[in-house]
Parts: sequence; structure tokens; C-alpha cells
Amino acid sequence: MCGIVGVYCDDDSFTSRIAYYALFSLQHRGQESAGISISGEDFKVYKGMGLVNEVFDDKTLSRLRGNSAIGHVRYSTTGESKLENAQPLFVKSKSGSISVAHNGNLVNYRELRRELESDGRVFLTDSDTEVIAHLLSSYLLKNEIEEALALLTEKLCGSFTLALLLNHMVVGYRDPMGFKPLCVGKLENGYILASESCAIDSVGGELVRDVKPGEAVIIEDGELRFERIAESNQKAICVFEYIYFARPDSIIDGRSVYSVRFDIGRTLAKENPVEVDIISPVPDSGTTSSIGYAYESGIPYIEALIKNRYVGRTFIMPGQRSRELSVQLKMNALKENVRGRKVLLIDDSIVRGTTSRRIVDLVRKAGAKEVHFRVGSPPIISPCYFGIDMSTREELIASSKTVEDIRKAINADSLAYLSLKGLIKSVRIDEEDLCLACLTSDYPVEVPGEICLRCSARA
Ligand code: SF4
Repeated sequence: MCGIVGVYCDDDSFTSRIAYYALFSLQHRGQESAGISISGEDFKVYKGMGLVNEVFDDKTLSRLRGNSAIGHVRYSTTGESKLENAQPLFVKSKSGSISVAHNGNLVNYRELRRELESDGRVFLTDSDTEVIAHLLSSYLLKNEIEEALALLTEKLCGSFTLALLLNHMVVGYRDPMGFKPLCVGKLENGYILASESCAIDSVGGELVRDVKPGEAVIIEDGELRFERIAESNQKAICVFEYIYFARPDSIIDGRSVYSVRFDIGRTLAKENPVEVDIISPVPDSGTTSSIGYAYESGIPYIEALIKNRYVGRTFIMPGQRSRELSVQLKMNALKENVRGRKVLLIDDSIVRGTTSRRIVDLVRKAGAKEVHFRVGSPPIISPCYFGIDMSTREELIASSKTVEDIRKAINADSLAYLSLKGLIKSVRIDEEDLCLACLTSDYPVEVPGEICLRCSARA
């Protein structure tokens, strides 16, 4: 899970600032590192570990001059959390200067890396993005960008939404299955590409449209064009963007994330009613679906928990120990609101179950008579291999436990999940165009060691 941006701006003193603010609004997609590559009189890359506003200051942004830039915020899924793996990655080759920002995960990364290493390529990072940079630089030696992307697509397996800076050209590309989002916006004096439309809004731009799966958007000499690169008869749009990852004020593939979450809450209320006094979100990810649940059920929405907004998302912090610590730091129960009441807590999902247990205990300790739990997604039963940090089955509580076992483990009076049918109905995108693999184990591409249910074979 990462956030990417690409910017073209007529005013070369403003480009890096637009990229900065756009990255700032995508901070929820990755908090480990941030970086910007910019092409002006020369090519500059600046990146560091930490949040966007920790990595960049006014002086740095003033030095980053140029009309074309790309940027990245990172949460690692392949490769360690260290500066060498921060993006954008930069490669200088005979085909020129190339910088790559990647959102996604390559399933065949190790195999490709071995191939490239045996051809004499030297790797400076352990991130799969470097494979993309090496392949692209070699394809660009003899091909225009469109052909180079087509060749790259043939080679890569997995998810890859890209922002590229090739000399002065800004390119956005979405893999043919469209796992991860990308959209284009118009600025007063340029264009912007971003993982989510909230980034376009944040810099005063206007959403033009989503980049379609298999499509590239190319900004060259201030002109923007869309090019179809690859076709696929199957799409695999990540359903978790709607459930959890994306900001509710974003529009992804034509669907408002807020509306989807609101509908999830309404559907959850219809599928799993419960007699309670108040409905409270687990902030912030359960907020919109709680509003939907309260709207449908007529039960008051009253907050049971207050979040310290200056602590990062628990799910997004690497390492179990830091996750545990951050739960204690980030939530407090409102005793006045919960004392003597039956409380329904709603969260977007349960991954490991540890956070949910702590939250239920917190609300009980604050005096709640009963604590019920509803989840705005079906149980997560399988790992994600496409760029989300749910990498082993052992980490996923629902991979080995029944709903009743999970209820006991999180210490709730009742527990219910949204059905798969209810989820698809709420998202309002055709089932065959969605990736639902972590909920169904039905992987849209062959993953080594997993059963591909579509072809019923172990890959
Ligand atoms: S497996 Fe789940 S989290 Fe991963 S891309 Fe598919 S829907 Fe998204």
C-alpha cells in the first residue's frame, strides 16, 4: 500500500509544492517514507524516512525546481523499511534518466530479479520496484514509452500502478487488471496524477477521470494524452480500497468511497440487526459505515471512543509490538457516553483481532453494559499478494477461527460480519471486476503456493 503522484506545472517553482501537498493528502497510504523526483535543468530526487512534512521543508522544496515531477509515500510490502527502499527510485541509463514510483506488488519479483542479476544487473535495493526500473530502462533503449510499457506488462505478474518520470515526461500507468487506483486531474496551469482524487482536490485541481486498467496517461510538453497499452478480459479492482484504504472523500473508478461505506453500514444493519442503545464507530475507519448503520436502524450514533489523531494508523505501522503500543496511545473511551449502555461498535474489518479485543475491553472498562461488534467486510481469510500488508495466513484471525471463536477472542457480546453479497451490492461494481481474494481465496492471478480457484490448480 503506497500513494503515488505525478505533476506537470507551467510554473517550475510550484511543481514540487503541488507534489508535496498531494503526497500530504495521501499520507494515509504510507507513513514510512516520502520522496519527490523532479526534472528541470537537471534531474533531482529527494526522499527520506518519515512523514511527508518531516521529510520536506520549505528550503528543500524551493531547491526542487522543474516542470515535471513524481512523488511517493511508502508502506513496505516487499523490501525492508529503510531509506534505500524509499521511492521514487532513480536509474540513469543509456535511455536517459528514469524515476519510478510504484503502488502494488509483483508476484514474480524474485524470478525476475534472478533473471536480471544473471544478465549482470546490479540491485541497490530489495524492493520489487527496482525490477520495474531495470526492465523499463532496457525496453526504452529501443522503444517508445507505449511499446516499453507493453513489453513491461508482458513480463510483470501482480499489481503495478506506476508514476514515471522519463527525462521531462510524466507517465501514469495502471496494470491491465487495475488492482490499484490512479486518476487524473486538471490544474490551472498543468496536470496531476494521483492514487486518489482527494489529492487532486487538495491542490485545487479538477478530477478529469480515472485511468482505466491497462491504460497509460502521458504528459509531454504540457500536453496530456491517454494511450491504451494492454487489454485484459478480467479486472481485479481491490475491494479493500473501498472498505478501508482510501479516504472517504475520494472517488475511485467512478464510485464515491463515502457512498460505498455508507451503503455498507446500511446493508450491515439490514443483515445483522442488534438491540443496542448506541452505535459507535471504531474511529476513524468505521465512521462512515456506522453513520450508515445508524441511518438504517434508527439507533442513535454516539461516539464511544475518541482517537488521538496524532498517532499513525495501527494497521499501517510495521511490527506487532509497535501496533500494540499504538492502540493504547491512540484510543480513549468516553465513559459518559457508554456507562450502563448497550454499545454497538462498528469497524471496517478485523485483521489480527488484537486491536478489536483491546477496544472492546476499553469500552467495557468504561462501564458499558454490553459491547456488540459489527464488521463492514466479510472475514479476511487469505493473505494479499498484491501490495497490502496481510502477508501470512497465521496473521489473519479469520483464516483459522470461526465467527464464534473470534467473538470469544475479542470478548464481544455478539459479532457479525457483512456478507460477500452485501459487500458487492454496496460497492456496485460487477463482481468479476473486483479482486476479492483476501475474502474468498480466489486469486485473480496465479500465486506461487496458492490454489488458483479459477483454474483449480496449485500454482
Ligand atoms: S487480496 Fe484483498 S487487499 Fe489484496 S488486492 Fe485483492 S482485495 Fe485488495
